[in-house]
Order: sequence, then C-alpha cells, then structure tokens
Amino acid sequence: MDKDTGDLQQDTLAIRGGYQRTHENEHAEAMFLTSSYVFESAAMAAKYFSNEAQGNVYSRYTNPTVRSFEKRLAAMEGGEQCVATASGMAATLSVIMALLQSGDHVVCSQDVFGSTRVMMDKYIAKFGVSVTYVPLVDIDAWQAAIRPETKMLFCETPSNPLSEIADLEALAAVAKHAQALLVVDNCFCTPVLQKPLQWGADIVVHSATKYIDGQGRCLGGAVVGSATLMEQVEGFLRAAGPTMSPFNAWVFLKGLETLRIRMQAHSANAADLASWLQAHPKVSKVYYSGLPDHPGHLLAKKQQSDFGGVVAFEVEGGQDAAWRVIDSTQMLSLTANLGDAKTTIVHPATTTHGRLSDEARLEAGISDGLIRVAVGLEDIIDIKADLERGLAAL
Ligand SMILES: *Cc1c(COP(=O)(O)O)cnc(C)c1O
Repeated sequence: MDKDTGDLQQDTLAIRGGYQRTHENEHAEAMFLTSSYVFESAAMAAKYFSNEAQGNVYSRYTNPTVRSFEKRLAAMEGGEQCVATASGMAATLSVIMALLQSGDHVVCSQDVFGSTRVMMDKYIAKFGVSVTYVPLVDIDAWQAAIRPETKMLFCETPSNPLSEIADLEALAAVAKHAQALLVVDNCFCTPVLQKPLQWGADIVVHSATKYIDGQGRCLGGAVVGSATLMEQVEGFLRAAGPTMSPFNAWVFLKGLETLRIRMQAHSANAADLASWLQAHPKVSKVYYSGLPDHPGHLLAKKQQSDFGGVVAFEVEGGQDAAWRVIDSTQMLSLTANLGDAKTTIVHPATTTHGRLSDEARLEAGISDGLIRVAVGLEDIIDIKADLERGLAAL
C-alpha cells in the first residue's frame, strides 16, 4: 500500500500506510536486514552514486523497512516527509546540526527532556549556537527572548512531569514573525493525540522509544516536516550516521498499527488514576491536564484529542515520604522510562531532574514530594491497589 494514502482515514494510514508489498506477496511487512544492496550493472552503480538514478545503495542512506516506517509516520503526523533516527536524541541532534550554524540562537522551553538540555548546553554551545530558556507557557517570555539571530524555537508539550501545555498556535505565530522554525517534541502525545504541524509548527521530533514502540523494547526517533527541511536533515543523517536500524523500524511499524487504541487506553487509565489520586487523603496535589482545575486544561482540550498517560502527584513529607511511597509499591516498575504497557513510577527530583540545581528544580515546580507515574495498560484496579499500598506506608 503506497499509492494515494492521502485519501485514507487515520486508522487506516496507521495500519496500511507506507508499505509496498514485495513480489513474495507477504502480508505483514518484510524486514530488510541488509547493510548494502547490489547494483544491476556497473553503469547503474555509477548512476546511483551520481544521483542520476534513485535506488538503495547502503542502509546508512536508505533501507526499505525504515522507509516504510518513515512514510507511515509522516502520513500520521500530516507532514510531507519523515526521517527516522537511531533514538529520540539523535532526532533532535540531526535537526540542530542540519539547520543551525555558528552564531545562531535558539529559544527553548526550560523543562525539556534532560538530555535535550545537556546536549544544548554542553555540546551545541561548543559550536557557537546559544540557547535561552523560557517557561513553556509564557508566550510573552518567548517573544521577549527573540533576537535578530534567533533561528529556532524548541518546545516539548505537554511538559514532563507536570503536564504544562504550550499554546502551539501562539508559538507558531511568534516563530513566524521572527522567521524562525518552530520545533515540537511530540513524544508524550504522538500524532494520535496531537499534530503540531496542524497548529503551525515546522518540525516535529519524536522519541519512538516511548509510545510508538509502546512496550519498551527498542530505541528510535523521527523527524517530520516539509520535504525541503527533511532533505537537509536527511543529508546530515546520511553523512553522520545516527540512522534507525531496520529491526527497530519493523518493531515501530507494528507499534504504529495499535498506537491509537493504546493512546486512548493510556489516557483513560491516566484520567481514572488522576481523579482517584485527587480524592486521596494522602495526596496533596495532582498534575494532569485532563483535570478541569489544571491550568492547561482548556488548551489541552483545544489542541489534543486526549490528555495522555503521564500523571504526577505530590505527597507531604518531601523526599523521604515520596521514596517511601515508591518503595512500598510492588507491581509498578521503578524506572525513568515511559510510554510502556507496564506502568512506571519515578521520583523526578532525584532522577530525571536530579541534574538541575535545587533552585532551578523548585522553580520548574519539581518538589521533593513529587512522584511521576506513566500509566500503563494494566487493569486500573491493580494500578490503584499498588499505589494504595504505597500511600498506606505514609
Ligand atoms: C525519551 C525522550 C526523549 C529522548 O528519546 P531517546 O529515544 O531516549 O533518545 C526526548 N524527548 C522526550 C520528551 C522523551 O521522553
């Protein structure tokens, strides 16, 4: 299925988009585990190398399984093209390396994924690209941070772990006015819940490691955007090599087929858990954009089709209390990963956000009593029972 996918509905694209059956008539997608390809003749080899003819040469450049994943995800995001990468971080790195140069400036939301921040501060800075961090939800701060040399606005919405919501339409307007690109990390929502390109973003980056795999097996990432921009990103990838493995692409193709029903199930379990936690006497505060009293609720309702699977909550008693709750659960996996069928639990202040100074951490709202749960697909009865066991330890 490769032709006219533009006419197909979302659920059909997720299942049949991007794949062309081979002459073997396989029903499921074939996996091409090959590092290189043979040429029909010496003359054809010369044509492929000079770009006179398009064809597979080497899997750092193109691979049919990876290509299928790219086409399917591009269709789901509503983008012209997708470039798959070895991880989510490789996606962000490729965007920056391909599209920025020394002297350029980036405005970035302050609570982006930890490694994104390390990459910007420790590595990208070495090449003369400077970054200003602003609060995700403060559009005036984004506007005020713009300089003549600003070339990119980078945000992650909803934020981790407090589910703050960026106004994508407003950010796209700021970016457009500054003639800068708006890049959105759409890992937490996936195209099922949010399509940033629709709201004016130029580029979407993904960690496919999370919900797109959905079962915590493989690392991968992707960049989606216009053909012109993706050509530049692909150029960097071909030269530098952080490409997706065909095996991982095959796993992610499988993941995309069930992504919609999984995201709905994650969201339903998370909404149920958030209301339960909100009513719990030992919980002082719950952060979930699906709750009507969350400051981002109306915005999330406007630009997302559901509220996602990540819930954070606070207990009184700081780190000691939070650790006691976490260590008293038995079923939930104590891991910083998310987007898995298995529910995970983590203490952000001493793990995912442990690198921040105390001051920066508290300013970002990551208190010592905060616990993050990435709600999985187990029966919600068992998830609540395990958290009840945790909270009973207080
Ligand atoms: C995990 C994650 C990344 C990085 O992805 P990797 O696949 O681990 O490299 C980037 N952004 C967000 C929001 C993430 O959760």
